[in-house]
Amino acid sequence: MRLVILGGPGSGKSTQARQLCRHLGIVEISSGNILRRAIASQTDLGHKAQPYVEKGELVPDEILIEFMRQRLLQPDTAKGWVLEGYPRTAFQAEELDFLLEDLNQQLNWAIYLTVPESVMMTRSVARYVPSEQTPPTQNQAQDSTPSTKSRLDDHPKIVPRRIELFYERTVPILEYYGYRQKLLTINGDQPPEQVQQNILHKLELDD
Ligand code: AMP
Repeated sequence: MRLVILGGPGSGKSTQARQLCRHLGIVEISSGNILRRAIASQTDLGHKAQPYVEKGELVPDEILIEFMRQRLLQPDTAKGWVLEGYPRTAFQAEELDFLLEDLNQQLNWAIYLTVPESVMMTRSVARYVPSEQTPPTQNQAQDSTPSTKSRLDDHPKIVPRRIELFYERTVPILEYYGYRQKLLTINGDQPPEQVQQNILHKLELDD
């Protein structure tokens, strides 16, 4: 199964991606976690991404696209994956399709977790704990491991920009996947277990 999870900040993407991966026994690839870890470990990718991530701006497409290309060629992706936070722009979505075509693979579904803007704001800001700003350690090496509860970009001054970018750059992807009949829209403004159940039901994976 190959899935993409789309949604604004605080829509529950990472919680749902994690649970889905556990359920399906496939790998979670979270672009946000990868970038936060790269920044903490001061890798080349981290150096390039840091100025964007800390301001809540999107990392340039070409950086992410090349990284994801390499990531999706790794052997642990053979059984399938859930991409969380990627693609985030129409260009990334198109490039993902080109890459999958090259690999002779197909995306099954793009799952869109819809929540009101006010919920994006309150959930993100609620995660922000100024005293816990220690970056993730290198031990948190897996893509799917939550990097840290508190994120600098959940700062109340940065979240509005992330929300704005979600509407400007990511919402257009919904049409892209809708047109290809790959879009599943799920109400994300419910308890996480309910959201998960609804996703499994739509994927026809509930018992
Ligand atoms: P997230 O954890 O998904 O909210 O991502 C945190 C930050 O990482 C975003 O605000 C962006 O700065 C960057 N980022 C993550 N995924 C992408 C992506 N697909 N394209 C560009 N920037 C990204």
